Amino acid sequence: MEIQDWEKHYEAAYLDITRSLKDVRGVFVAYNSNIDAIKHVREEEVSKLVDLLGCSAIQEQVVQYPREIKDPVELMARLVISMRDGKAAEVPTYDTDIHEWLTDNLGFDRARMGGQAGIMSNLLANLGVQNVITYVPWLSKEQAEYFVESPNLVHPAVENGQLVLKHPKEIYDKNLKPKVNWILEFSRGTRVCCSGECFTVPRDNRLIISSRPQWLHIDMSKELYESLPYIRKKIDGALLAGYQMIREEYEDGTTYHDYVEKSVNVICRLKECNPRMQIHVEFTSIQNKVIRKAILTEIVKEHATSLGLDTVEVANALNVLGYEELAFAVMSKDERSVIALYEGAVRLLRDLQLQVVNIHSLGHYISLVSPDHPVDVDGHRDALLFASVLAATQASVGHINSIGDTKEGLKVPVYTKGHEDLASLAEYLVRKGVCSLEEFEDGCVNAMGHSLVIVPTKVVDKPAGTVGIGDAISAGAFVALLTKIKDKGEKCAEQA
Ligand code: ADP
Repeated sequence: MEIQDWEKHYEAAYLDITRSLKDVRGVFVAYNSNIDAIKHVREEEVSKLVDLLGCSAIQEQVVQYPREIKDPVELMARLVISMRDGKAAEVPTYDTDIHEWLTDNLGFDRARMGGQAGIMSNLLANLGVQNVITYVPWLSKEQAEYFVESPNLVHPAVENGQLVLKHPKEIYDKNLKPKVNWILEFSRGTRVCCSGECFTVPRDNRLIISSRPQWLHIDMSKELYESLPYIRKKIDGALLAGYQMIREEYEDGTTYHDYVEKSVNVICRLKECNPRMQIHVEFTSIQNKVIRKAILTEIVKEHATSLGLDTVEVANALNVLGYEELAFAVMSKDERSVIALYEGAVRLLRDLQLQVVNIHSLGHYISLVSPDHPVDVDGHRDALLFASVLAATQASVGHINSIGDTKEGLKVPVYTKGHEDLASLAEYLVRKGVCSLEEFEDGCVNAMGHSLVIVPTKVVDKPAGTVGIGDAISAGAFVALLTKIKDKGEKCAEQA
């Protein structure tokens, strides 16, 4: 299909989804909201910090590749690695010392809502979705202020034994402290030098230092858990993210098994009356392989209906599921990578018993869909196109404050490279006999009965920012799919 035909599909999908968004009753979004302190790191600032800490100490840690950050040298090592490779990364830190060091030595440009659940909640509320029921287990006063001021954005609480849904600012817990993450953004072309060795940053990207204080729990009070049936009747699906916050062990003797169990219980309760309730889990970079595997094989498997990931996360997921070679191929820089992505998606869908695997990369998005998902291939394609318009809006404008803003995204042209990648995947699939060229373009069904939908995306040449685009893609594709599901499949009488 020519690029101009894709543009026509884009317009039609955009019109259809924007008109139908009001049909979605609501979305429950949990768990991770935080405050992002954002800093665009400039050449002279990196140079100053390198001088301050010493090149050799940093180089030593570059080799060690710290997976958590305990001191400023480890932080700088991870920053140098990210800048060198132009790769996004997220590294945890377990106390607040780094926060203080960064405040004193670098400072931030601005602060905003962060965390996948927080970003997705605000986005859905801004798009006008009827009920956005957001839930954050650590709702502090500061955190509450970062939620958009809109009557369709509410947070649950139990007051006098009754479930109430109010704006976060009306029901925060004054005893809780905010969770602040640092986002260190850098630009292509920035020069970094250490001991006379220099490199140029190949791509705009960022390093996230995520704060994981002891009090952070992916949890829900018993009374709120008991009240989930009241939330159920206001929603058509749930977007769940933040499981990476789960730790192997806690100071009180509990372990990740306890939190995995609690997480699964919440999903089961949400689905109790509606086995078709769409439960999307948004994946992210998780350094700890035990936790990464537990999330995939114990929370996502059997319980979630869809999983959203970017290319690096697909490789990470495949790695812990025992597909190391495929994971390696996904990360390769040549045409093998798009093929490996398809093969990886097949394994994720099958091994994790999912209905949908959504993979977004720069230039194209892929949905692999099982035969039991209630939406047809056209619907899935529309959902991906709508998601791409949101991503392009986020990249070009830097925010999405209303559905009106998204018209900007629609104007962004389809990325030629993404369109070309599609051709190489098509060639491979035709050669392997998975589908014909025509079928491929309309969404094709493979030998196992799974449908493959792949679209070229709109990419902004000089993005206003890169944070939160992935969340916009996943929330956009998810809510777009919900507009297509008419039969809710509810069973319990208490839904009335
Ligand atoms: P984040 O967590 O910051 O949202 P992800 O890695 O999950 O990051 O998602 C980034 C995605 O955003 C990419 O896969 C790509 O599809 C999209 N994206 C990145 N840059 C642009 C851009 N300039 N224009 C459009 N989409 C972009």
